[in-house]
Amino acid sequence: MSARSLLYEGKAKIIYTTDDPEVLLAHFKDDATAYNAQKRGSIIGKGEINCTISKVLFQQLENHQIQTHFIDCPAANEMRVRALQILPIEVVVRNIAAGSLCQQTGLSLGTVLKQPLVEFYYKNDQLGDPLLTRDRLLLMELATPKQVEQLQQTALRINTYLSNFFQTCGITLVDFKLEFGLDSQQQLLLADEISPDTCRLWNSSDTDPNSRVMDKDRFRRDLGNVENAYQQVLERVLAQTAASG
Ligand code: ADP
Ligand code: UDP
Repeated sequence: MSARSLLYEGKAKIIYTTDDPEVLLAHFKDDATAYNAQKRGSIIGKGEINCTISKVLFQQLENHQIQTHFIDCPAANEMRVRALQILPIEVVVRNIAAGSLCQQTGLSLGTVLKQPLVEFYYKNDQLGDPLLTRDRLLLMELATPKQVEQLQQTALRINTYLSNFFQTCGITLVDFKLEFGLDSQQQLLLADEISPDTCRLWNSSDTDPNSRVMDKDRFRRDLGNVENAYQQVLERVLAQTAASG
C-alpha cells in the first residue's frame, strides 16, 4: 500500500500526494456544486462516471498527439495524474451559445457560432471566476504570450477532436472548460477532467431545451434524472470507443 496524504480537497475531487513527487492521485467525488458552490448536492455514481469518461477522453486525446496529465486509474473513481503547476486560467471553448455567453451578450440559447469561441476566465472562486481579456491575462502574468497562443491552439484542436467524437455518440458538444498545467520541464499539459460536469452536452436527436440536456445543467436547473443523463453519456462514450476499436 503506497503512502498518500491529502494535498487539496476541491468541490468535485480530492487530490492526494503519492510516494512519487511527480505523481498525484485524484479521487472523483459524487458531490456536485453550482453557482460558485451556492447550490450543493450529490449525484450518485458521478465520481466513477466522470473519472471513467475523463480517462477514455484523455487516452483518445493522447492518441491524437495532445499531451495530458493522465497516467492510469487504480480504481473506477481514482486517477493517477502527473503533478502539475496548474495555470489559474479556465479555458472555455464554445460551439453553440449557452450559459454565461447568453446572459452576457444577449445571444439566444442554441445559436450556432460561426466559428468556435475560445475564452479565458480567471480561476479564482473569491472573485467568481471572472472573464479575462487577453491583455488582463498578460498584465496579471497568468501566462506568457507564447503560452496564451499555445492554450488557444490546443483548445481548438481538442474541440475539433471532441466535437467529432461526441457527434459519433449522438451528442452535441455545446461548450466545455479545460485546465492546463506545467510539468517539471515547463511543458504545457491538459489537466483536470473532461466530463458532464465540465461540458455542455445535448442529445443530438432531441430539440427540446430540457430533455436534450445530458450534463450538469440538469443539476443546476433542477431538471431531474441527473444520474440517468450522466450514465447515458458514459454508456455512449464506452460503446463508441469499443466500436472504433
Ligand atoms: P475546484 O478546485 O474548482 O473545487 P476540483 O474539486 O475538481 O475543483 O479540484 C481539483 C483540483 O485539482 C483543481 O483545483 C485542479 O486545478 C487541480 N488539478 C487538476 N489536475 C491537476 C494536476 N495534474 N496537478 C495538480 N493539480 C491538479
Ligand atoms: N464550466 C466549468 N467550470 C466552471 C465554469 C464553467 O466546468 O467553473 C463549464 C460549464 O460546465 C460549461 C462551460 O464551462 O460547459 C461554459 O460555462 P459558462 O461560462 O456558460 O458558465 P455557467 O453557465 O456554467 O455559469
